[in-house]
Amino acid sequence: MSASSLAVYDKANSIMKLRAKSSTQKRVLERVTALRERLIQQQATGNRRSEIVRIACDDLLGINENPKFWLRDHVIEEVDRLRDSDLERYLYYRYRYDVYPAERIADDYPPCVQIEPASICNFRCVFCYQTDRTFSDKKSGHMGVMDLELFKRIIDQLEGEVEAISLASRGEPLVSPGFPEMLNYLSGKFLAVKVNTNASLLDERKSHAILESNIQTLVFSADAAKEPLYSQLRVNGSFERTLRNVERFMNIKETHYPGSRMITRVSGVAYSDEQDIDEMKHFWGQLVDQVIFVRYNPWENVYESPPNDVVQPCSDVWRRLFVWWDGRVNPCDVDYKSTMSPGTIEDRAISELWRGNVFEGLRQQHLAGRRQKLDPCARCFFI
Ligand code: SF4
Repeated sequence: MSASSLAVYDKANSIMKLRAKSSTQKRVLERVTALRERLIQQQATGNRRSEIVRIACDDLLGINENPKFWLRDHVIEEVDRLRDSDLERYLYYRYRYDVYPAERIADDYPPCVQIEPASICNFRCVFCYQTDRTFSDKKSGHMGVMDLELFKRIIDQLEGEVEAISLASRGEPLVSPGFPEMLNYLSGKFLAVKVNTNASLLDERKSHAILESNIQTLVFSADAAKEPLYSQLRVNGSFERTLRNVERFMNIKETHYPGSRMITRVSGVAYSDEQDIDEMKHFWGQLVDQVIFVRYNPWENVYESPPNDVVQPCSDVWRRLFVWWDGRVNPCDVDYKSTMSPGTIEDRAISELWRGNVFEGLRQQHLAGRRQKLDPCARCFFI
């Protein structure tokens, strides 16, 4: 695929082909109706959180004429597993996650924070910047694993302010020796924690640690349902090993954690014409709750790519913030060598960095149609 033939990468619609059952949708809408009635009875006005949740409910129930907010299918599944007592808090987060980037609103905290337990990866997937040796070489300075105490300081800043935490970014999180302790520390503090793993290092101990932590979503990255395609895409990976580890995890989940509300998902990158989504869905769908493909975003070696002609702002600068293993904050992981970093959490608090001059300047440049003046934004297709 040549760079010139690529369309923009719309983050808001990056997940392909997932359909929530109509019975699940109905159940969720009934709960939203009940929440709205409760908010009305409480006459909850003047409270910003309640007002935003009320708008979210009105949008979802078709009461607002021009709704800005709806639940995508994978989100409906997530809501369905929430306790009633968490629904208001969840909708407050999710409305801001979906609507604020579209409306170009930056709140005090980002709607989502991605924390990187490790930048190191044991795979070299063909579509990933781990193939860029100026990044993944041990001597590059970019490789490392997060210290547990640093992780705790990050979580302490985010608890009560952010709900969506992804433990994943540039590397494989299970590479980090402190990963089970990290999960234990964040357990019960957030409503939308997601871990992405290639499952190659998912042993029995880590499986228990993930299940005990009660995170909301565990994503296994796999782009094929058989060899040789699996290891042609996931270079250094073995389909047999990944399958064995996923099967063991699901057995442990069923046997030891029958009440677990965790969503399990296999997620692949839509990269090659040889991939067959129906075959993937059939094969992996027998094991996990959801099977999806995300659109390929050509980020490997972005710094060497030619500039493109995208002028639309990148929504991610209103949606996410990344914290690398060493405490460095970055606006995105397309810029995997942190050339646009506003600093580290040792310099300033996460909320200050999010609303500080560097991030705000980035947003202003995008709003003014000047992303071409920024590197690597000029070479990136993200909108
Ligand atoms: S490089 Fe720029 S345009 Fe691309 S995701 Fe990062 S901030 Fe957005």
